[in-house]
Amino acid sequence: MKKVREKPKSLCVMECLRGRMAFSKEEERSYWQGVRGYEGECCFDSFTKDFVTINDLTIKEGQTAQLDTLLVTEYTLYLFDVKNFDGQIMVRDGILYHNQERLVNNPLERLERAKVLLEKKLLLHHIRIPVVANLVFINPDMIIYGHHPDLPILLHPQIKPYLEKISRGSLVKVEKLAQMVADFHTEDNPYTALQMMKYEYDNLKKGIFCPSCRVSMNAVSGRTVQCRKCAYKNSKTQAFLRMMDEYHILFPDKKVSVQNMYEWCGGMISKRTIHTLFERKK
Ligand SMILES: [Zn+2]
Repeated sequence: MKKVREKPKSLCVMECLRGRMAFSKEEERSYWQGVRGYEGECCFDSFTKDFVTINDLTIKEGQTAQLDTLLVTEYTLYLFDVKNFDGQIMVRDGILYHNQERLVNNPLERLERAKVLLEKKLLLHHIRIPVVANLVFINPDMIIYGHHPDLPILLHPQIKPYLEKISRGSLVKVEKLAQMVADFHTEDNPYTALQMMKYEYDNLKKGIFCPSCRVSMNAVSGRTVQCRKCAYKNSKTQAFLRMMDEYHILFPDKKVSVQNMYEWCGGMISKRTIHTLFERKK
């Protein structure tokens, strides 16, 4: 099975928690970083859609590395780490500064580490193929200073011409190779565990929340709810199903019942409606 890109679990959880609890500055920062990161990766996917790719591959060989995008050809594996930075990037002696602040986890070093780990893994499985790694700055408005052409960095305007030069080889061989590499994946990822937020059911605000503003929505009629901020409307049925999905994301092990869904939606959907919707889902 090849790995398809999914929205990171930590980001899904944070999305469901927004509006239901106060975020610290650090959590707010990490949320927006997650949103931008995911947008950047999806944007890069639109460039590579005609290739065989493996997304979000986590490999472990002593150390662990997460590989955003791995593009597979018969002759070479192309590893891409996508960064969606705005503003300015400055490169000085291999160190990156974003808006004049030194990036703590140097993306160039991380990329190199991931490449070495992948090479090690390939060697162990007797797969002989070179790996080429690049850091991709996907944001077209980002400005870079001190960039040397020898650095493994691709800027937005370089992506398309770079990919156009890649020769893919035989699709059968590529698919076979991709399958072998995709099998390296481990679910055992220390990074995702670290990013998970702590929360408890009792401390979360109940109600129906607007998908974009995360403000609680009001009932405007027997069948409709509306966001107080952006005026976005939902039928109560849609809103209920959205809230139930959020409940599943936040509490995957808890059972749903008419009573707790009634509570979860802040009493805005009648128990009778919830009951009917449950019956319909059966
Ligand atoms: Zn809204």
